[in-house]
Amino acid sequence: MSIFRSLFSLLLVIVATVLVACSGPQVQIPTTYSPEKIAQLEVYVTPIESAREKMETLKTLISDQNWVNIRTYIHGPLGQLRQDMLNLSRSLLPKDQDQATALAREVFGHLERLDVAAKDRSLTQAGVQYREALEDFDAFLNLIPKAS
Ligand code: ZN
Repeated sequence: MSIFRSLFSLLLVIVATVLVACSGPQVQIPTTYSPEKIAQLEVYVTPIESAREKMETLKTLISDQNWVNIRTYIHGPLGQLRQDMLNLSRSLLPKDQDQATALAREVFGHLERLDVAAKDRSLTQAGVQYREALEDFDAFLNLIPKAS
């Protein structure tokens, strides 16, 4: 009887250990950003925030109907934006990655259509694409955690 009892409690210990081991990795998936992670993300966010400021220059170029410089600007100063946004998306928490990647692709899709609009010298189309790019850009930035 006492052997049975000690075997039984040994079994309980094994079951408990297996349960803890199995639930372990799930518990460890982070669902919030640690201060260290936010500091690490800053490196990726900085060039994107500066690209966001450059969008204001693009707005001026559009209202001036400066078609050639709009296209130069998209490929030059904003040329690295797609890669920067995708890199940042991959560094976010798993729960935010898909949305960030989708928004990054949206922004670039609008900039590509803005490029086409500039080629066609269509102010209406350029205005539409610019506004939508800006909207998706700001939604993207809203996903990025801020240091408090
Ligand atoms: Zn869009």
